[in-house]
Amino acid sequence: MRDACLRDASIRHCAGMKIREPIPGAPLPVDQPSIKQSIVHHLAHTRMRDQYRASASDVFHAVARAVRDRIADRWLGSTKSQWDDGKKRVYYLSMEYLPGRLLRDAVLNLGIESEVRGALTELGLSYDDVLETEADPGLGNGGLGRLASCFLDSMATLGIAGTGYGIRYDYGMFRQAIVGGAQVEEPDTWLLHGSPWETSRTETTYTVRYEGRVEPRVDPTGRTFYAWVDTQDVIAEAHDIPVPGYRNGVVNTLRLWSPRPVQEFDLALFNAGDHFGSVHKRNVAENISRVLYPNDSGPPGKELRLRQEYFFVSASLQDAVTRHLARWGSLDDLPEKCVFQLNDTHPALAVAEMMRLLMDEHLFTWERAWSITKRAFAYTNHTLMPEALETWPVHMLDRLLPRQLDIIREIDRRLGIEIAQGHDEQAQARMAIIERGPQPNVRMANLSIVGSFSVNGVSALHTQLLRERMFPELDKFFPGKFKNETNGVTPRRWIQQCNPELAKLITEVVGSDAWVTDLEKLRELEKHAGDSAFLERFRAIKRDNKAKLAAFLEKEHGFRCDPSSIFDIQIKRIHEYKRQLLNVLHVIHRYQRIKAGEKPEAPRTVIFGGKAASAYDMAKRIIHLINHVAKTINEDPEAREHLRVFFVPNYRVSYAERLIPAADLSEQISTAGWEASGTGNMKFAMNGAVTIGTLDGANIEIADAVGEDNILIFGMTAEQVIQRVRAGYQPWQLYESDTRLRAVIDGISHGAFSRDEPGRFRPVAQSLLDNDRFLLLGDFASYVETQQRAEQLFRDVPRWTRMSLLNVARMGRFSSDNTIRGYAKDIWGVL
Ligand SMILES: *Cc1c(COP(=O)(O)O)cnc(C)c1O
Repeated sequence: MRDACLRDASIRHCAGMKIREPIPGAPLPVDQPSIKQSIVHHLAHTRMRDQYRASASDVFHAVARAVRDRIADRWLGSTKSQWDDGKKRVYYLSMEYLPGRLLRDAVLNLGIESEVRGALTELGLSYDDVLETEADPGLGNGGLGRLASCFLDSMATLGIAGTGYGIRYDYGMFRQAIVGGAQVEEPDTWLLHGSPWETSRTETTYTVRYEGRVEPRVDPTGRTFYAWVDTQDVIAEAHDIPVPGYRNGVVNTLRLWSPRPVQEFDLALFNAGDHFGSVHKRNVAENISRVLYPNDSGPPGKELRLRQEYFFVSASLQDAVTRHLARWGSLDDLPEKCVFQLNDTHPALAVAEMMRLLMDEHLFTWERAWSITKRAFAYTNHTLMPEALETWPVHMLDRLLPRQLDIIREIDRRLGIEIAQGHDEQAQARMAIIERGPQPNVRMANLSIVGSFSVNGVSALHTQLLRERMFPELDKFFPGKFKNETNGVTPRRWIQQCNPELAKLITEVVGSDAWVTDLEKLRELEKHAGDSAFLERFRAIKRDNKAKLAAFLEKEHGFRCDPSSIFDIQIKRIHEYKRQLLNVLHVIHRYQRIKAGEKPEAPRTVIFGGKAASAYDMAKRIIHLINHVAKTINEDPEAREHLRVFFVPNYRVSYAERLIPAADLSEQISTAGWEASGTGNMKFAMNGAVTIGTLDGANIEIADAVGEDNILIFGMTAEQVIQRVRAGYQPWQLYESDTRLRAVIDGISHGAFSRDEPGRFRPVAQSLLDNDRFLLLGDFASYVETQQRAEQLFRDVPRWTRMSLLNVARMGRFSSDNTIRGYAKDIWGVL
């Protein structure tokens, strides 16, 4: 039935319904009176509210519906034309998406902002207030999920037929509250008031199976096949969210899966009086998408997580295969018409699942199935941390996904034969998908590399280290497979939407909004780098953004700061390798110098933000320390004139959009060789913040783009880090020999920031002295010096403003449009 439906491109005969008129009819008008009429219509007829009872949420939903109606016309049009032209489709498989609020995004992409604003004004409502009402869908941890959302935006804008597949978590990333300075996790209820953007496709469902046994059987032709029987099944149901391109009429789809039990209700149990038991299966099924794992590096290794991964992989592949068959009638040419991009190894089971679908459901031989599979997948690696490489115990896979494990074993066995020649034992063991030994794990990165035609890193340095340090044997064995695609961010959200005044100025200089889809046009700004009147206008925008942020922080959190101070911002997940603690060491050092009578060259407001994985004790201690250091400094009358510190609670996309346009200094200070790329660094520089950073990840390419005079680089290189560790790194010696460092560490360890409990932060200090895995002490002196230089430069207003302008002007290459063009050309073969 579904096939018949899909095959009939007119969709008019679906489900036996015959509609005589074309749907959609005439597209809805986008003038102000029509939009106003739509808002009123949805208030009354969708929300069923009048002017006396409508709440902020009712108004938001009504506005979102009015906008969505206008997306719907284009969505239907795009779906149909993509079906008709039969272009190659990109399926982006990602466990996480961090789209941020969608109303302003949709309005700007459609180009109807003044109409929506005007309609709301006529109704006595404020557009900005309505925007603030929207919940921020936190379906991701951090950079990886945000990257996926930037990529979907760019694919739609470039007119690529790209679908995102993911999971519709009931509870996304936890909400972070700060209580007594410490992180407390609270549930994120993003769906509490419903989402106006999603459409539930209750008829687009697939069965996802778990557990059971595999039985070899022989078909009537004498061919052996494998039956996966006695499985525990769950239904995956699609929920579609539109992804509009920038003013090009294209609307792609983000399809999120949620589970449903095969059997709603066990009537036999219910009738036997077991009312709770009767819904037990329902609960087991629904638990699959209950919550996002809040780990951003280092897999949780939990069975439920493996269930989640397989759930969305299986549903997504079944969906794509069904569509392909309906459109083309055969799976032989699948790799010519579809490509699946794996966002890290979380969807790596797709390799085994595709083999299963092809062999067990569509009766392909191993050889033909493998030839199709390995030409259909491409894998993006996101980490250089060995402990963050995902592995699953063989015994867990054996119980949960026995058929997929059999397939992985066979892939590994065949790989073993191919690599037996020309590799010693050790090399073979490193290349293998399944570890050797008594309690082996399956290495998902190795599976992804072997099962894909392309493997990419996300910055030049990351790709180099991936090839040289992480997978040297596989790199040599698969020549040309490893490539680089440096990350990027969408200029729609990260300039146009979050920094409207800067966007206006750029539009004026460029002469049109062409820069929004061609970011290299920012270069035009360079022509004005010597024009002091222009620089003053440019500087005024930053000043206004800072004043707005200061007002917000005071209103929302009671934190007061001076908008003329340096806004020095580090916002990202809290992780030891990202070295928020190095920033804290500098803050404490600065504080101690003020107490010793040495005033800084410029007053400074240091802002931190970020969540710590709930089980990551050291990261949580660092948050606690930041808050106590902040309290001590902010309450000290001698210090507060020169230095203030604030930790913004519950950092998320909508918060990033406020903070980034107001930043003077962007902290990108990871230990060189540890950050794969970073994307926060790009958002800041595009908005005119000067980076203080290490030569790590994409910082290297940012330095290359903006020029070494316009960035503050400090610390060891990745190569020097390795050498230093090899030579026997001694944090103790640094502590002994640098009096500044000793004062800072003693302060932490003796309770200068925890007078109520002097030993509270001793473990933090101790970990630096004992091992200091991320070489904070080794980079401390260079960091302090460079911070000093930042203050001097900041005081030289014309110089600083010019640096800031040149950062904006030269960041064009970091548009995700550029990144996606790279993927399209080097990997996907589309465009
Ligand atoms: C961009 C972004 C990140 C990634 O930041 P990095 O500094 O690259 O780690 C994380 N979280 C949010 C909400 C973001 O917008």
